[in-house]
Amino acid sequence: MESDVSLRFEAVLGHAEQKAELQMMLGEKRLPHALLFTGPEGVGKRRLAYVLAAALLCGAEDGRPCGACSSCRALHAGTNPDFCEARPEQAGKSAAQIRIDQIRAICAEASRFSDAGRGRVILIDDADRMNEAAQNSLLKTLEEPAGQVTFILVTSVRNALLDTIRSRCIPISFGALSETILREALAARNIPAAEAEAVAALADGSLGRAIRLAEGGGLAKRDAALSFLEELPVLAMERIFPLAEAMGKGERDALSAWFSYVMMALRDMLVLYEDGGSPLLYNKDVRERLAALLSIYSKASLFDLLALACEAQKRLQANVSLRLLMEGFLIRARDRCGASI
Ligand SMILES: [Zn+2]
Repeated sequence: MESDVSLRFEAVLGHAEQKAELQMMLGEKRLPHALLFTGPEGVGKRRLAYVLAAALLCGAEDGRPCGACSSCRALHAGTNPDFCEARPEQAGKSAAQIRIDQIRAICAEASRFSDAGRGRVILIDDADRMNEAAQNSLLKTLEEPAGQVTFILVTSVRNALLDTIRSRCIPISFGALSETILREALAARNIPAAEAEAVAALADGSLGRAIRLAEGGGLAKRDAALSFLEELPVLAMERIFPLAEAMGKGERDALSAWFSYVMMALRDMLVLYEDGGSPLLYNKDVRERLAALLSIYSKASLFDLLALACEAQKRLQANVSLRLLMEGFLIRARDRCGASI
């Protein structure tokens, strides 16, 4: 059987130091029983955790999962009994959570197998989504590790975890991916070079985000946000209501993304106010369009608009009428930039 390439450390982009450290600990058989992978969203933390789990369960001497043994094959097929993964689950209207009964179930299973002499791996992705009860429940197992169980917790919001959980895990922190790595990854997905370059600059070091931008029409959405900022100062009052109505018919997620693009453009304009040649722009490919907007927006109005957009994006999560929310935002946003000229 051909070995499974997705189970190779090399298949995870970047993070050479973290990979080397983990492989060294594996090779010396001194991997801690609880690890906490932290770092920005979309940089490959969970993928690396999965490869590490494969390596632990495979038992290959060189610390690299072979991808071909029964353990590796079962892991790939999602049927390896020694691997268990908890992820946030949606229940009703509230945000997805990892609930206490999920944690109890995996901890019970971990202890059941602890006598069998086999290693087990428990991966908790988005560990910050455990509510406090779930975290306290996990804590008991982390305090009294049951046999050869390795816990790998993955989070992009480290501070949402209890101190007591963090202090019992060895942290491995991950940074953003370089634009070069993102460009290469996008090229491998057949994204044209010019678009890959623009997306890589916008993605803030997150491959997950770069892929969503490139494959989810993100650049077009970014351009729409930019066009909005160009039109806002001359937006007629009577256009606001139909515009709010049209935008209010969209999905919450799509509107949230639109606000993100608006905020990134505003943030870029603030950077340009400080240094017109700054390389630190998200939207490097439209530098000229952004610079042209500086003659319309004062610095104070940019801060005001950022605050408005941020507040509106937060309110999206509440149970509000999207049309009314957009109306309120558009009216206030228009006022702020009108006053600035
Ligand atoms: Zn194997």
